[in-house]
Amino acid sequence: MNNGNLADQSKPSGPIKVKNGYTVYVDRLLCIGAATCVAVSPKAFDMDPDAKAVVLKTVDGDSIENIIEAAKSCPTSAIFITDDKGNRVFPK
Ligand code: SF4
Repeated sequence: MNNGNLADQSKPSGPIKVKNGYTVYVDRLLCIGAATCVAVSPKAFDMDPDAKAVVLKTVDGDSIENIIEAAKSCPTSAIFITDDKGNRVFPK
């Protein structure tokens, strides 16, 4: 993985503001590196050398609906999504 592909190099796993005011965050302590999020949304997520999911700068190339699907696919619910008002969208 190339660091230049990160949405924000200072916080590889977010929180990252994405389109329509949503925020995506991966809890690195919960992430077990299963990479199903990458399989569902390769534009939003990749794995770093520590086998933790990071948010890519191409994240806005995917729909928020699919990013939420990626979050739902995570076996440890390590991906957190909030809306523009800070309300939790997933996990509920
Ligand atoms: S699916 Fe969950 S546990 Fe697997 S890499 Fe993504 S965030 Fe980590």
